Amino acid sequence: MKYSVLIFVLTMLVIQQYTQSLAFAEEIYTSNVEIGQSQQGRGLYVEQFGLGAERIVVVASIHGTETIGTPLCNQFIDALYKNPTWLDGRTLYIIRMANPDGVVEDIRGNRHNIDINRNFPTGNFGRGWFNGDEPLSAPETVVLMDFFSQVVPERVLTIHQPLNGIDYDGPADELALSLSEVSGVRIHRLGSRSGSLGSFVGKELNIPIVTLEIPASAQQRSSEWLWGKYGVILQGFLEYDASKTQSD
Ligand SMILES: [Zn+2]
Repeated sequence: MKYSVLIFVLTMLVIQQYTQSLAFAEEIYTSNVEIGQSQQGRGLYVEQFGLGAERIVVVASIHGTETIGTPLCNQFIDALYKNPTWLDGRTLYIIRMANPDGVVEDIRGNRHNIDINRNFPTGNFGRGWFNGDEPLSAPETVVLMDFFSQVVPERVLTIHQPLNGIDYDGPADELALSLSEVSGVRIHRLGSRSGSLGSFVGKELNIPIVTLEIPASAQQRSSEWLWGKYGVILQGFLEYDASKTQSD
């Protein structure tokens, strides 16, 4: 008799735990929206976590040959489920794959060989066969521009390869410094590239945007290793409090 009561109590505890974690999951994971399509008709998806007022964006794989940000985002999402308080007061938008055609074809640009990350309508846009004859000639760039213009986030992080360092555009010097300090990854200014997402978000929209460059040596590493090395940057970026930094 006692034994069956114990089993019952344990079962109830397990069920309670399970339903709580389900509620948790529903609470932080709000949506996965197709915001548009690639040249080849593949979906560009934005996953949204949290419902807070502060809006934060992470973008991976905008260059089809630099895909390491995608497994890093997968690890980030796993960590969010384990640490839902990271999302307090925040809405996080993750674009795990900004250039799906490029990833599938293993090419840097889109299917028409236009670099999505050089095709934004910026003051420094440079016409060229790989940049596009004119801004927004790549449908992926149009989709991303519309997304950023509508969401108007507080800050943006984008993940590239194969350099090593943290770069930034727009009013992001304090943010970049704090991410460098927490991770040991040094700041490495590359300058605003013509028609890049960094130039568009940082210079045209005046929103802080940080670029994390991950070296080629990390390519063969597991996603767990990636998270061990770069997780502090993603967490630090998400939880960054600009007011705190400025008052220090
Ligand atoms: Zn890149």
